[in-house]
Amino acid sequence: MKRLISAADVKAAAEHDGVLTIDDNTIVTPQAKDEAAELGVELVFGAAPAATQHKAAEPAPEHHEAPVAHEPEHHKEHEEHEAAMSAEEIERLIRGALDTGIWSEQQVEDLLGHAAPLKVSVGVSGRHVHLSQEDLEALFGAGYELTPIKELSQPGQFAAKETVTLVGPKGVIERVRVLGPVRPSTQVEVLRGDTFKLGIPACVRMSGKLEGTPGITLAGPHGTVALPQGVIVAARHIHMTCDEAAKRGLHDGQVVSIAFGGERGGRLDNVVVRANNTSALDCHIDTEEANAFGIKNGSVVEIIK
Ligand SMILES: [Zn+2]
Repeated sequence: MKRLISAADVKAAAEHDGVLTIDDNTIVTPQAKDEAAELGVELVFGAAPAATQHKAAEPAPEHHEAPVAHEPEHHKEHEEHEAAMSAEEIERLIRGALDTGIWSEQQVEDLLGHAAPLKVSVGVSGRHVHLSQEDLEALFGAGYELTPIKELSQPGQFAAKETVTLVGPKGVIERVRVLGPVRPSTQVEVLRGDTFKLGIPACVRMSGKLEGTPGITLAGPHGTVALPQGVIVAARHIHMTCDEAAKRGLHDGQVVSIAFGGERGGRLDNVVVRANNTSALDCHIDTEEANAFGIKNGSVVEIIK
C-alpha cells in the first residue's frame, strides 16, 4: 500500500520535529515538496518509525504507552494506518491532483491499478420552452417558423430568437427562450424557484414524461395557449452516445451521481444517463443546481457509478 505525503503532513511535521520519513512506497505530492522546502522540513529516506508517527498525530498519556509497546505487531500497524489519511482524504487529493493537472489520468491509473475517475463537462440550462408547431402558430401566427440564433450542444438543437411569457395563477415570467426545432408536444422547463413565482407545483421529470404535470398559459405576440399539462423541472441527466456509455460501463437509463470539487463542491445523486446515437456527451443541470455548487457552463464533474 502506497503512502501519500501531502502538504498538510508537511505542516504537521514542521510543528513537530521537522522530519518526515519516506521510503519506496511513499508518494510525496509536488505541493508537499514545495511546502517542505519552504518550512525547512527534512524528507529523510528510511524505514518509517511507527511509534514516532503515532505520537506525532495523537500524543498519548504516559501511562498508556507501555501497554501499546506490548501489543501484537499487526495492531500497531492498524493504528498507524488510522493516524495517517482516510480513504476519503486520499481520494480528495487525487481528484485535486487530476483537476490541477499535476497528475495525468494515466499516471493515476498506474498508481491505483484501476481506471481514473470518469469525467464529463456540464451544460447549464436556464428556463426554456419547446413548442409544437400548432402551439408555435397559435403564439406567433399561421405558418410561423422559428429563427435559430445559437446552436446547442445536442446535434440539431438550437436557441431561437423567439421568447414567450409564462402566465401562472400567481405570477408571470416574461421573455422565456424558445428552443428549436419544434417537437410533437409543447414542454415548459422551469426552475424550482419559478414554480413558486408562477404558483404551480414543482414536478421533477425527464424530458417528454409529461403525464400528470401542471399546465400553464403561454402568451406570444399573436395569441395565447392554455396548456393542460407540460411544465416540468428537468431532471438532471447526462447525454452520451451508446458507444460512449459502453466505454464507461454505463447504459441508457442508469442512475448515477456526479461530484464536483471547489469551495461549494459536493455530490448530486439521481442523475440519469441518456444514451442514444443522436446525443453529444454533456451533463445537463439547471442554473439553480449549478449555482448551488459553483458549477459553470463547461465545468467538469466526476461521474460516480
Ligand atoms: Zn439535456
